[in-house]
Amino acid sequence: MKTIKDINFKGKKVIVRVDFNVPLNDHLEITDNTRIRESIPTLKKLVEDEARIILMSHLGRPKGKVVPEMSLIHVAKEFSKLMGRNVKFCSEPLGIAVIQQVEELRNGEILLLENLRFYPGETDGDEEIAKKLADLADVYINDAFGVCHRSHSSTTVIAKYFPNDKYFGFLMEHEIRNLEKVLSTKETPYTAIIGGAKVSSKIDIIRNLIPKVDNMIIGGGMSFTFLKALGGKVGDSLYEEDKVELAREIMNEMILREVNIYLPTDVIIADRFSNDANIQTVKADAIPDGWIGMDIGPVSRKRFALAINTSRMIMWNGPMGVFEMENFSLGTKTVAVSVASGTTSGAFSAIGGGDSVAAINKYGLADLLSYVSTGGGAMLEYLEGKPLPGIQAIRE
Ligand code: AMP
Repeated sequence: MKTIKDINFKGKKVIVRVDFNVPLNDHLEITDNTRIRESIPTLKKLVEDEARIILMSHLGRPKGKVVPEMSLIHVAKEFSKLMGRNVKFCSEPLGIAVIQQVEELRNGEILLLENLRFYPGETDGDEEIAKKLADLADVYINDAFGVCHRSHSSTTVIAKYFPNDKYFGFLMEHEIRNLEKVLSTKETPYTAIIGGAKVSSKIDIIRNLIPKVDNMIIGGGMSFTFLKALGGKVGDSLYEEDKVELAREIMNEMILREVNIYLPTDVIIADRFSNDANIQTVKADAIPDGWIGMDIGPVSRKRFALAINTSRMIMWNGPMGVFEMENFSLGTKTVAVSVASGTTSGAFSAIGGGDSVAAINKYGLADLLSYVSTGGGAMLEYLEGKPLPGIQAIRE
C-alpha cells in the first residue's frame, strides 16, 4: 500500500480529499466532530512536514447549488481549533482567485476549499472540475473513506492527474488494513450482526458473509421479511414483499452452509410509529394486524448477546430496532454493549454504518471496540468484494 508515512512533503502543494461531512444543528453548530477528528493525523503530518495544504470536502447534499447553510465555513472554526492553527478559506475553488490563494500559501499553511458539491459536476465525476483542482497541486492524497465508493471528481477522477504522486492518507490506510483483516479472518466463532430498515440494501453483504460466518444475527426492520418467509404474521411491520422469496433462498443457503441463523423470537410492538405509542411484547411470528414491530424483545436480546459474547470475530452493521426512539432502543443498546464486552474478552470487532456507529458513540463504547469504520456504504461495498473507485484510482 502506498503510504505517506515515509515521505516528506516539505514545500509541496498537497491537495487532500477529506470527509468533513459532519452533522450540523439548526444553529449551524457541529453536533459530532468525529469525521474532522479522524482527518487530523494526516493533516498534522503534512503541517509538520511543512507542506502547503489544500483541503477539499463536501458537506450535506446541496445538489449542485450554493446552499449557505452547507458552506464549509461552518466547519472551518472547529477544524482550526482541532488543528491548533489558523486555516484560510477559499469560497470559489474553481474560480481564478484560488490560484493566487494557493500561490500565497506558505509552508505549513492550510487552505480549505468551499463545499465542492455546490458545483453540479462534482458528483458526476466531471473531468474539467477534476483537472482544475489537480492543477492547484503537486500531490494528491485521498483520506475520505466515507465517499471512496463514489466516482466523484474529487474522490476518484482527480487521481489520474497525479500518476506518481497519489497516496492514501492515514485514515484510509487504517480502514483498508482493518477491512482486509475482516475479509481474511480465520477466527471462529465469527458472528455477523446485520440490522437496519431494508433487506434490499444489505442483501449483498449477507450473501458475501454466508461462507465465512458461524452465526448470522438478523434484526431491525429487515428481519420481518425473513419472518414472513418463514410463514410468520408480521402485522403492520416494515417488510418487503418482493424480497420474501429472496429471504427464503438466503436462509436455505445458510442452512446448507451450517450457519446458525438468529432471527428475533420475540419483538416489542407498537400501535403506531411513535415513542408514545402503546407497547406490548409478543412472539415475533404472531404480530397482530395494526401493530408494528419496533425492536427485538427480551428473549431475543439475551440470545443475541450470548452469541456475540462468545464470538472471536464480530461484524456489526445496522440497528436492531427504531433506536432513535428511546422505547425501542434497548435491542440496539444490548448489541452495542455485547459487542464491546465480546471485544474486551478478546474478539476482534468491526462496526460500520452511521446508525450502528451513532449507537456506539451514544453509549460511549467506541474506545472498547477494535475497529469502527468512518464509512457505512463504503465499508459494506468493500466487504461485499466490490472494487471501490476511490481506492482503485490510487492503486492504478
Ligand atoms: P439502515 O440505514 O438500512 O441501516 O437502516 C437504519 C434505520 O432502520 C434506522 O433509522 C432505524 O430506525 C430503522 N429501523 C430499524 N428497525 C426498524 C423497524 N423495526 N421498523 C422500522 N424501521 C426500523
